[in-house]
Order: sequence, then structure tokens, then C-alpha cells
Amino acid sequence: MSTASELKARVCAEIERHAAEIVALSDDIMRHPETGYRETRTAAIVADRFTAMGLSPQTGLARTGVKARLRGGAPGPTVAILGELDSLLIPDHPYADPVTGAAHACGHNAQIASMIGAGLGLRTVIGELAGDVVLFAVPAEECVEVGWRMSLRDNGEIHQTTGKAELIRAGHFDDVDLAMLTHTGVDTPPIAFGMRGNGSLVKRVRFHGRAAHAGGMPWAGISAYKAATVAIAAIDAHREFFTDADAVRVHHLITHSGDSVSAIPARTELEMMIRARTVEAMRDASERVDRALRGGALAMGADVEITTAVAYLPFRDDEPFAEVTAVNATELLGADAVGRIPDLTGGSTDMGDLGAVMPVVHPLAASGCATPFHGNAYYTADPVAAAVVPAKVMACTVVDLLADGAAAARSVIERSGPKLGREEFVRLHDSLADSEYFRGGLLGT
Ligand SMILES: [Zn+2]
Ligand SMILES: [Zn+2]
Repeated sequence: MSTASELKARVCAEIERHAAEIVALSDDIMRHPETGYRETRTAAIVADRFTAMGLSPQTGLARTGVKARLRGGAPGPTVAILGELDSLLIPDHPYADPVTGAAHACGHNAQIASMIGAGLGLRTVIGELAGDVVLFAVPAEECVEVGWRMSLRDNGEIHQTTGKAELIRAGHFDDVDLAMLTHTGVDTPPIAFGMRGNGSLVKRVRFHGRAAHAGGMPWAGISAYKAATVAIAAIDAHREFFTDADAVRVHHLITHSGDSVSAIPARTELEMMIRARTVEAMRDASERVDRALRGGALAMGADVEITTAVAYLPFRDDEPFAEVTAVNATELLGADAVGRIPDLTGGSTDMGDLGAVMPVVHPLAASGCATPFHGNAYYTADPVAAAVVPAKVMACTVVDLLADGAAAARSVIERSGPKLGREEFVRLHDSLADSEYFRGGLLGT
């Protein structure tokens, strides 16, 4: 029986042997971005890789997710290594898809590569571990194309606007006990821990008015667009009343303002995200926003239809899990290479959803890029740092978790404390979702 150190040495040697392939995979996906729930090419590549590894992947999970299992030599907990499939929409990004505008401006391409890399390494030692490893390519982490996702939701094709919650709801994490992924960072040390993420609600907002000639007889119209702008002004008036501790962010896009500039707009649509550090603060901010939306409708006599869904639950690294991961990062890279992430919130991840049901860790790895996430210049400039190094860190962490009868994994699960069951998770999500049609008074019923 090999020691954990010997197993880790084998794992790292195998990952190093495949380093060029891992880098090539990260770069290929970077050059072929696909947004959430549409990641068919990327999913097919992952499925092919799993098959080539001798695994039997499940495909089409939450539309595009791909999952495979490496079976341990003895029973024990199951650790999942995740990679997010999806990109953003940043049309002026240098690696944007010229047709769709999709672009990997959040580095998820490296996650798929690091997940595959970790699997290649762990494959060589899995028979000596007590527990399984699930390799899981997961869809739709980014909350984009809200209108389209809401229409999928209307049609019953999905329930959730983001992928991990959709997978949890469908039971695809029922056979997983712990989950990890490594995201790329901005100007971070090689590996950094302690990220926090706001929870987020998402809204589809439709103002309904009445069209009329904008020059000849505007008085006969009801402007859905003016109702929206009054509502936006009211939302902005609320910003100073949010507490600093709640780190509330409210963003909106006007996705449809009207149809003819010569007509009073009869239909104006927005998509919105409302982020906050706690579920309570998410609810409070959402109620303020809804009042503002109703206020805009009332001011102009328009109607407003508000559909609210959860995008993300609040996130933080599970500390016991992060400790094991940090020990491995330190062993591999040295103490100077392992850092803490400043307590800046405002961003979000659906690892928050997964963290509600099991211990999770979400370190950030260096990307070789110092420009902002989600910007038009962010990409994985250093794919070795972004994909190969995280593959080693995650694989060695799994070895520690599942060696020696999986004592470390059991300890992490126990120290992490109680989590929500799937049913409770679904109830929480459903309690935050809402749908309302408010009449501003002039359109009639
Ligand atoms: Zn992102
Ligand atoms: Zn991301």
C-alpha cells in the first residue's frame, strides 16, 4: 500500500506528462466559447475525453452537463471535481465568437482543462483510495441571457437560471459528498483562498403601455419606456439606503426599449440582477426594487410584469475543506505561493448553491492576466498557472481526502456542519422566486 505522498507524486507526474494536452484543451475551449445551457461543443469535447479515459459519461444533465465517475478501491465519500462549461457575452473580446459574441472572459475554459487534468492524474491511483471521484462539467454558471433562460423556465425546460442549482434540483449531486473547483483570478497569487460571493436574484421585467403616434397624438399613448426610466430612477434613489455590510448591487439592462422611435413605446423590457451578502438582504433589496418598478408603472399608468428567480445563493469557502486544499497547495508550490483573497464581495457564483448542500471549496488560481474579470481583455494568458497547477492541487487534495480510509474527507464533512437536504434547498429557492402582474391603472384589464 502506497503512502499518500507516493500517490501524490504519481498523480503529479501523470498530470505533468499530460501538461501540453491540458494547455491545448484550455486554449481550444477559450477559442470556442459558448454561453450557459448552450455549451454543446464544449460538452461533447468533455464527453469524448471521459470516454478516452475509459469512463462512461452521463451527458445532457441540466441540458449540457457531463459527469463521469472514477471508482475507488474501497467504499467511501465521493469527491467531485468540477469545471464550468460556459462563457460570457463580450462581443469585443479578442477571442469572442464572431457570430454569438460569446467570450471566455471569466476563465472557465481553464476549469474544464484542470478538471480533466486532475482526472487524468487521479485515474492512476484511484484503486488505492477509499471513495470515488466524480468529474463533472457543469453548465450555466454565468447569469446571462436572462430573458431566454426565463423562457426556458416558462416552458418547463429548466427550473433554475443557473446550472448548479438546476443539477441539484434534478438530483445529479445526490451521489456527491464534497465538491471543488478552481476558478482563475485577477492578479492573485498562484493559489488563493477565502473568496466570498453575494447571493443574487434575477428579474425579468416587462412594462406594458399603449402605442400612439409620438408626434401627432402622444397623449393617446402610455409609455412603457418612461415607466421603466422612472422605475430606474427610483431604484437609484434606494442605493444609499442599503447597508454597507450587505454589499448590495443592483444591475439592470434595458433589453427592449420600444419598437418604433416614431411611436410611444408599448413594450419595454429589462433584465436585472440584485446581489447581496445574505438571503435576508437579497429579499429586502428585491422588495425595494419591486416597489420602484411598481412606482414607475403607477406614475405613467402602465402595467408591469415582474418575474423573479434565484440566480445564486451566497457563497463562502468551506473552511475545513479549504484547509486541506491549502496544505496541498503549499506542499506543491511553497507557502509564498498561497494567499488569501481580500474580503471583497459583489461577485457571485453558483458554488454558493452547492455550498448550501455540501462542503465546497473554490480557490482562485493565477491567470497571467491582471485586467478585470468579465472585461474585454481578460483571458487565461498563462494556461499552465490557470489549468495545470490547479489540476495538481485538486488531485493531491483528493488523495489526502480519500487516502487512509477517507479519514480526512469524513472529518471535513463532520466539521463543516449541517447542510440543506435537496428538498429544503428546493423549498428555499422556490420561496425566493415570485411572479407578479401590477396594473398602473390606465390600461384596463
Ligand atoms: Zn464570471
Ligand atoms: Zn467565473
